[in-house]
Amino acid sequence: MTIVLEGGRVITAAEGADAVLERGVLVIRDGRIAAVGPAGEVEIPAGVREVIDVKGRTIMPGMIDAHTHVIHWTHRGSKLAGRGNEMGADIDTITMSLLQALENIRRLTESGVTAVRDVGSPHAGIFSLRRAIDNGDLSGPRIFASGSAITMTGGHGYGTVSKEADGVDEVRKIAREQLKLGADVIKVMATGGAGTPGEEITDSQLSSAEMAVAAEEAHNKGKTAAAHATYPRGVLAALDAGIDTIEHGIILDDACIQRLLETRAYLVPTLEVYARLASMDASPSSPFGYMARKGQGAIGPHRESFEMAVKAGVPIVAATDAGGSWWLLGDLAYELERMVSYGLAPLDAIKTATSNAAAALRKDDQFGTLETGKLADVVVVEGDPLADIIALRHVSLVMKGGDIQVNNLTSR
Ligand SMILES: [Zn+2]
Repeated sequence: MTIVLEGGRVITAAEGADAVLERGVLVIRDGRIAAVGPAGEVEIPAGVREVIDVKGRTIMPGMIDAHTHVIHWTHRGSKLAGRGNEMGADIDTITMSLLQALENIRRLTESGVTAVRDVGSPHAGIFSLRRAIDNGDLSGPRIFASGSAITMTGGHGYGTVSKEADGVDEVRKIAREQLKLGADVIKVMATGGAGTPGEEITDSQLSSAEMAVAAEEAHNKGKTAAAHATYPRGVLAALDAGIDTIEHGIILDDACIQRLLETRAYLVPTLEVYARLASMDASPSSPFGYMARKGQGAIGPHRESFEMAVKAGVPIVAATDAGGSWWLLGDLAYELERMVSYGLAPLDAIKTATSNAAAALRKDDQFGTLETGKLADVVVVEGDPLADIIALRHVSLVMKGGDIQVNNLTSR
């Protein structure tokens, strides 16, 4: 089966001058990119089955949301109202979390996301969901999952997306358990965060020694390690431990920037989530008051840290941190809009969700750019996101491995 997309602008997101083709052609055969180049220079193969005209639109790589919680406890209709753990959760709670996950993967696909890195899940159902999608039983993005995150007793995400562990032996045990279940990445909590009551983003949590065994176990198996780290002490502890991606980085100082560059770690800032938290009901009677307060405090320093990292050349990866019934998935475009509003060039913002994200997942040999031989994970959006990044909200076609998952072109 050969599909040709022609007539539109092509953002390949590849290195150098080939990143944008003003009028390009993309040829897809057997699920992979067979050819890409300027119109008139690409030979259209004989026996073509389908030519799709995308004039006035932009062809780009499928987007990657590199920090999600596809499965989370749902507050709506749940007896546990969002708290509990794998052992204590009843069948109703687990089922509700999976039903919400199905809605999440639908929204991800419709928003042009063809892969997610899922970094914290309340139960091992994420691996079943990944298998169902890989088998083709369900339509959805490629899932690269951590399973449960690892946190200290009472630390970030306890009772929701994290398992508690203290000391290097317990951390190693949980890391190995998640790898046994099939984890693609190991996630640790270096600091407190906004989403858990009773802690501050300035709190240090797992020690560098504890995080180092998690990173070691991940690396032993050819996997990566991610750390939730919102404050310099935790960021430096995580980088000293050999962590590959720093999640959030709300407050970064010069030493953090220096160490990020030295260790070649990626920064996954998740800017938008704190603005969403800040807009929640902060009144004393609100169950989310603590989130709103911490979100409001984060926005200013987070912007400054992001700008410092961009200026220094730290590789940035886009992600929403969405999950739970208060924020369903599918809003990655808003994260890119916020990056652009903070001064990042639109092409660079798009790379954070494509080529940079694929590199952070160590899957850049497979997807993340539109280059010959790579998997045909492709999105077509209305208009030109390089002129106005809001174009990313208007997805007209989504293809994963050459399979058309969304096609809004025919209805127009
Ligand atoms: Zn998260």
